[in-house]
Amino acid sequence: MNPKQLFVFIGPPGSGKGSLSSMCVEKLGWVQLSTGDLCRKNIAEQTPIGQQIDFAIKSGKLVPDSLITEMVVQWFEQQTEHPASIILDGYPRTVAQAQEFTLILKSRLAAFDLKVVRFAISDEHVVARLSGRYICNNKGCQAVYSLIPGSSLAPRRVMTCDRCDGQLMRRSDDYEDAIRTRLKVYHQHEHDLISFFEQKGYAIEKCDVEKPLLDVFKEFQQLVGLRAA
Ligand code: ADP
Repeated sequence: MNPKQLFVFIGPPGSGKGSLSSMCVEKLGWVQLSTGDLCRKNIAEQTPIGQQIDFAIKSGKLVPDSLITEMVVQWFEQQTEHPASIILDGYPRTVAQAQEFTLILKSRLAAFDLKVVRFAISDEHVVARLSGRYICNNKGCQAVYSLIPGSSLAPRRVMTCDRCDGQLMRRSDDYEDAIRTRLKVYHQHEHDLISFFEQKGYAIEKCDVEKPLLDVFKEFQQLVGLRAA
């Protein structure tokens, strides 16, 4: 029997980690853990964690590792079963998180086969994409859309979520200053994070994500052996 798979998506903000994850959830029945979504949900619900992280998120900085680990452990506790492969979208994001995560892996996820996928995209593409990104403001939904002309992620109705009829809005960190900070922070951590996984013996699959989402989905499936080249 094939082991269940656990994918770590490493890529800059706006590289489409969330969009590819959603496609895998929809088309392959996988499960997505997005620490960014968890953070925004905590903020919207004004939980104690949400109150502590609101400012960091708005300014594009990272949330403290200990709070991220707390949210991730809570998430795994809430999963009654793991019927399918899991995508970790935006987690782990620092070496300290990756170290904590390998402990979670050993204790709870021993049946899973870990694969690391690095999303390759230029900073200019990222800035252009994020300037047209809108999300559903329903905290349980957070579906992502693009208002860039010709995008396959355009909503069917003006500023309205296709899935839940929620209102679309810009994310509080999708403004120029915060975007630049997020990119800087990403580049500070990327190299060490990739080296950490390499040293642990995991292969890093590189996925070119500058192309349209459906083509990215096809390349991803080939990279992870779900589809013939
Ligand atoms: P992006 O990767 O496009 O910036 P996310 O939705 O993944 O978007 O994350 C948004 C924000 O949430 C980050 O800028 C950061 O403040 C916080 N965040 C999400 N995941 C983590 C993480 N693993 N560690 C620290 N902060 C995180």
